[in-house]
Amino acid sequence: MAENENSSEVSDSKYEEFYCCYLLRSLAPNYRQTGYIGSTNNPKRRLRQHNGEISLGAKQTVKKRPWEIVLFVYGFPNQVAALQFEWSWQNPSKTRRLHLTSRDEFRENDDKLSTSLRALSKMLQDKFWSRWPLHLNIMVPLGSIKLQQGRTTINASTLFDITNLPKKIRVTNGNIDEFNDYHKGSIRKHVRNEYSKYLEQIKKNNISSCNICLENIDFNNHKDYINCLNIDCNMSSHITCLAKQFTKSEALEESTLKNSYDKLKEEILPISGKCPICQMILLWGDLIQAMMIREKYVLNDLVLKE
Ligand SMILES: [Zn+2]
Ligand SMILES: [Zn+2]
Repeated sequence: MAENENSSEVSDSKYEEFYCCYLLRSLAPNYRQTGYIGSTNNPKRRLRQHNGEISLGAKQTVKKRPWEIVLFVYGFPNQVAALQFEWSWQNPSKTRRLHLTSRDEFRENDDKLSTSLRALSKMLQDKFWSRWPLHLNIMVPLGSIKLQQGRTTINASTLFDITNLPKKIRVTNGNIDEFNDYHKGSIRKHVRNEYSKYLEQIKKNNISSCNICLENIDFNNHKDYINCLNIDCNMSSHITCLAKQFTKSEALEESTLKNSYDKLKEEILPISGKCPICQMILLWGDLIQAMMIREKYVLNDLVLKE
């Protein structure tokens, strides 16, 4: 991704840590139940492209302009995971992970908006995806979207009830500017935490050790270690040490007679776990994000403008 000239500032265009899958809804009079699923690292710019305000819009959406973003999902472990999520969301009837009892659950002739909402609801409930540290940002209240189903009119919220989502999925509401502020706020929080801890560690002459294996940590090797997200906690560990600890406890929780602990231990990717010092629950995705932000901001000595 290209760095912009203002790299010392956290600006709207700085979304390197961010990638989302979004759902659009057409506002054209005859296409109100038309949806469109895509992915982007900048939803504000992408919407302007779909609406033809700036160039490079997706061709499929030209006829049904204007569009609005109903909601988007982010917090994927990496961009490949986001693209896989996007594909499954676009093709729910072909997605084996959804374990559909029959392919008719997502009929081709259903309108795209209803299908997309039902598919997302099902995906976020599914164990496979709900293990990821996903966030859902809702831009248009679902209760305000009316959908025609045969002769009856229903609310979109009956197809996708957010109160039923697994607790791990964080839900926020608001327009894109509110979301940008929220997202920038969370980056700032990580930068503050990581900066102050880095300065502490360097003051100690870089001789602190990993809280798990007790071997030394090289605090200038930013890809090698993780700090607790609790600003008052001094836990630092090698990334591999904490990953092993998290996967062990997850495998222990998930193991059954059929799926043995040893087998699971090999397969599971860390999703979350407790800090070994302060016991705070930490999401793996948040830890990795904080590590990447530390590498970028601390290493390049970027100053945050308040
Ligand atoms: Zn270690
Ligand atoms: Zn801690």
